[in-house]
Amino acid sequence: MTCTINPETIIASAGVANDAAHRGVSPPLHLSATFGWRDPQEKPAYDYSRSGNPTRTELARALADLEGAAAGVITASGMAAVDLPLNLVEPGDLIIAPHDCYGGTYRLLAAGARRGHYRVEFIDFTDERAFAAALGAGPRLVLIETPSNPLLRITDVAAVAAAAKAAGAIVVADNTFLSPALQNPLALGCDIVVHSTTKYINGHSDVVGGAVLAKDEALGEELTWWANCTGVTGAPFDSFLTLRGLRTLYPRIERQQETALAIATALDADRRVSRVYYPGLAAHPGHEIARRQQKGFGAMLSVEFAEGVDVVALLRALDIFTIAESLGGFESLACTPATMTHAAMTAQARRNAGISDRLVRFSVGLEHAQDLILDIFRALDCVAVSSESRPPSFRKQSEVHAC
Ligand SMILES: *Cc1c(COP(=O)(O)O)cnc(C)c1O
Repeated sequence: MTCTINPETIIASAGVANDAAHRGVSPPLHLSATFGWRDPQEKPAYDYSRSGNPTRTELARALADLEGAAAGVITASGMAAVDLPLNLVEPGDLIIAPHDCYGGTYRLLAAGARRGHYRVEFIDFTDERAFAAALGAGPRLVLIETPSNPLLRITDVAAVAAAAKAAGAIVVADNTFLSPALQNPLALGCDIVVHSTTKYINGHSDVVGGAVLAKDEALGEELTWWANCTGVTGAPFDSFLTLRGLRTLYPRIERQQETALAIATALDADRRVSRVYYPGLAAHPGHEIARRQQKGFGAMLSVEFAEGVDVVALLRALDIFTIAESLGGFESLACTPATMTHAAMTAQARRNAGISDRLVRFSVGLEHAQDLILDIFRALDCVAVSSESRPPSFRKQSEVHAC
């Protein structure tokens, strides 16, 4: 890839008319588990699909080019992607991870540490003193995740990566919340990027998958070796669907973040809302860093409703948003972290992390912004105290959700 090609073009041309047999414009799906050898002494480019598969390669190449990586591995899930770089650490080595990292990542790291696979320290990356102290202990691997879930806290990737590299650590960034369209951690100094492609990259909520992208060739080869060794590589059909989903990444996320900003702005002005967490709002504590290191503010936002708003009833009253975990799809989702995504944390741990019981996390999809805003305000009118007038619903009166 030459550096003059724009990412939109990388996506639109990945694998197009490359099919050697028929020059199919859309790259073919190679489901074969095994491949024939011309001669027993001449190992072909592909011999067995766990080790390598042409459909998976198309996706890996496209994602590596988007993130500016030398090599990429496609995994069966985002968790398999988070797990793969953990093969680079040895018993006794220290891993530093954000205290508010993805729940599955927290569970994996904590379980691995309990078994003695490594030591782990979960810290607040925005607390400079805690971060400096953790670096002083000589970590082997530092994991960055920004924006965080569910409060969209922003970590200064360039600053953290530079300090971690100076301390001798491998720096891994989970870039799932923004996708390569809005943030490129390798360009900010990280060594490895991991993605849950289940989210924005596939974007159609019909595949669970992951990707690991390495800045340099040697690290990429090591990760590829471990992926084949442990068998965490993704299925060809999943790669085919994910490449198909990836084609529209830019127009999807650009529209979705535009709508997210509109929703954040509308809710921020309402007295029944105590706080909107969206990095695109100037009042967000990470706004300036986000502006510097991201190419957009993303399409995730969390809203803490005011006292007296029953958020469980609010979610039940939503018509367009589906009550569900996950994010990054074409469809809008809403969840209450306290009872859903973050229910495994104790109430005290949630309070310490600033996650209120009245917090709602929204993943903004491709529906019309006005319809989504009306859906939230109509539901809010249903459940919030002392509401006199109700905004007209976009739906026919007979279809309006009963309060
Ligand atoms: C969803 C998610 C994961 C895990 O990915 P799966 O595809 O569900 O295994 C990891 N990190 C982040 C930030 C996620 O949102």
